[in-house]
Amino acid sequence: MDFSLTEEQLAIRTAVRELCADYSDPYWRKLDESHAYPTEFVKALTRGGWLGCLIPEEFGGSGLGFTEASIILEEVNRAGGNAATAHAQMYVMGTLLHHGSPDQKQRYLPKIASGELRLQAFGVTEPNAGSNTLRLETAATRKGDRYVVNGQKVFISRVQHSDVMLLLARTAPYNPQARTAGLSVFIVDLHSAPAAQLTVRPLDLMINHHTTQLYFQDLEIPAENLVGEEGKGFRYILDGMNAERILVASEAIGDGRWFVERASRYASDREVFDGPIGKNQGVQFPIAQAYAQIEAAALMRFKAASMLDAGQTPGAEANMAKLLASQASWAAANAALDTHGGYGFAKEFDVERKFRETRLFMTAPVNNNLVLAFIAEHVLGMPRSY
Ligand SMILES: Cc1cc2nc3c(=O)[nH]c(=O)nc-3n(C[C@H](O)[C@H](O)[C@H](O)COP(=O)(O)OP(=O)(O)OC[C@H]3O[C@@H](n4cnc5c(N)ncnc54)[C@H](O)[C@@H]3O)c2cc1C
Repeated sequence: MDFSLTEEQLAIRTAVRELCADYSDPYWRKLDESHAYPTEFVKALTRGGWLGCLIPEEFGGSGLGFTEASIILEEVNRAGGNAATAHAQMYVMGTLLHHGSPDQKQRYLPKIASGELRLQAFGVTEPNAGSNTLRLETAATRKGDRYVVNGQKVFISRVQHSDVMLLLARTAPYNPQARTAGLSVFIVDLHSAPAAQLTVRPLDLMINHHTTQLYFQDLEIPAENLVGEEGKGFRYILDGMNAERILVASEAIGDGRWFVERASRYASDREVFDGPIGKNQGVQFPIAQAYAQIEAAALMRFKAASMLDAGQTPGAEANMAKLLASQASWAAANAALDTHGGYGFAKEFDVERKFRETRLFMTAPVNNNLVLAFIAEHVLGMPRSY
């Protein structure tokens, strides 16, 4: 068993670290204050080939694996940034790669790899369905060579910073006997969608996340934009969810490392009562505890990523990585805030910004309650609770 990174993985980490050095705390702080999108950073990440790292070389990407992708996103958050502003491009395209037609792959993947086309939006969540994706109601009805979409989505991020969106919609009524059937995935061209047919309303959140509410009113989508087979969309989406959980876990781990580095440095420098505050166990233990949690979560994340890279389906491991990483980063966030005392609340220290940002990982893309329900049912064989 070898837990060390390869030469290539270390080189990737160094290169991303160097790129992120050009986008330091003031860059992210200013974006947070003005609710602006990190356009320049995302362009640089794309130019460097990092956002297209999972796209195979035959389609213009670098053909790396999830282990490498997780190193990239971890590094962005560890540097003080927020990879969630762009991460969807990495895993959303997996649905196209694995289930799209040869024509769809040829049409979209090379342009996504080069940055000419942004596929950052993934429309699943609905106000009435919430975590219960199988009960989503947005309907796509086949009419000749088109589908006509009606319904509503909520919390759909980066729509205003994407050229295309993947949409999960119902193409057959809900059937309690075949609960996962009847959902389909579509590619939606956001530029050609008329405003009257697709209304996009930004949501004001406690973090700078560019998420929106979508209203579909007779939006027409060419039938050729259906991904894979009609009615099998939920299975396609599930495939991408393990990837999403591993990548989100990596961002949480990056955040956790940022908090621990800042907190331990501050605790060693700040002096009150004739000595550094960090010599007190009440200050150092929560930081050390969070560090241990982050290391454990990072191992689970690498286990899940290497299983995915080996073609396995790491449902339990991806879920556990997301659970442990979100809890570890939250423990680190609280330790960092406590360590900084009143300065933890001062914007110029960035702790409060990262504190708000990292809290999201316990709620989205899937709530930790549902992760625990998955483990209880599918790993431990207990009765289904939902
Ligand atoms: C910033 C942000 C960005 C997002 N981006 C996207 C996006 O790009 N695309 C997208 O499709 N979605 C997105 N989401 C949506 C996100 O995935 C959902 O918010 C999340 O899945 C939870 O759904 P909900 O908000 O409807 O909560 P609900 O499903 O209403 O749940 C509310 C609470 O009840 C708990 N709960 C519900 N049922 C059970 C049960 N059976 N057992 C135990 N506890 C239960 C939940 O755990 C949670 O604590 C985003 C959300 C946020 C906040």
